Amino acid sequence: MTDFVFPPAAVPSVAIAGSRRMFPVHRIYCVGRNYAEHAREMGTDPEREPPVFFTKPPDAVTANEAVVPYPSRTSNLHHEVELVVALGRAGRDILAGQALEHVFGYAVGNDLTRRDLQQAARRQGEPWDIGKAFDCSAPIAAIRLAAQGHLVSGGIWLKVNDEVRQQSDVAAMIWRVPEIIAELSSLFELRPGDLIYTGTPAGVGPLRPGDRIECGIDGLEVLRNTIGPRA
Ligand code: MN
Repeated sequence: MTDFVFPPAAVPSVAIAGSRRMFPVHRIYCVGRNYAEHAREMGTDPEREPPVFFTKPPDAVTANEAVVPYPSRTSNLHHEVELVVALGRAGRDILAGQALEHVFGYAVGNDLTRRDLQQAARRQGEPWDIGKAFDCSAPIAAIRLAAQGHLVSGGIWLKVNDEVRQQSDVAAMIWRVPEIIAELSSLFELRPGDLIYTGTPAGVGPLRPGDRIECGIDGLEVLRNTIGPRA
């Protein structure tokens, strides 16, 4: 056994619907600009600028019902409801036609974003990390097993204090799940435990301390979080 100088951090994990076993998180990949209407509201042209990848640290996962502290150094925290794909099999250069064989399950996630810092980084051609990869930036509900069916369409919505802010269908994604897995696996070796946040539809907007957020996708557990005081 390795003799660590202090105890290593616990493995971040996500609940599995109908099970007491947990899904251990390896990496978190995210897709940006994957719904045309959202790309337009961000001021980009989905015909000319394809979706992009970025990452969050694995320990950004935050459980259903958790209170998310309002993060530091922002005055424009935004919600982004997303379909999350959980991988159960490794692979490189995966063909789109075989990509779904690598899927362990699906969950609802919220790609929390310090929009002011992300926009400033975009303008200056800097990395998105401080806008996207902060602590508690990846709330996620329980994973539903792919064995119960793959999720190729269905309503996706988000409410803040009972008011609908985002509403679309996951079938409106520019890159569908098999294409995302194929593309990502040509850039990185994918591993069991990887999560992929697949992008958000239009309607993103600001959150304030005390807000109650509900995120849903037809057939998956609803994700509920509240925003706590400033960190
Ligand atoms: Mn996003």
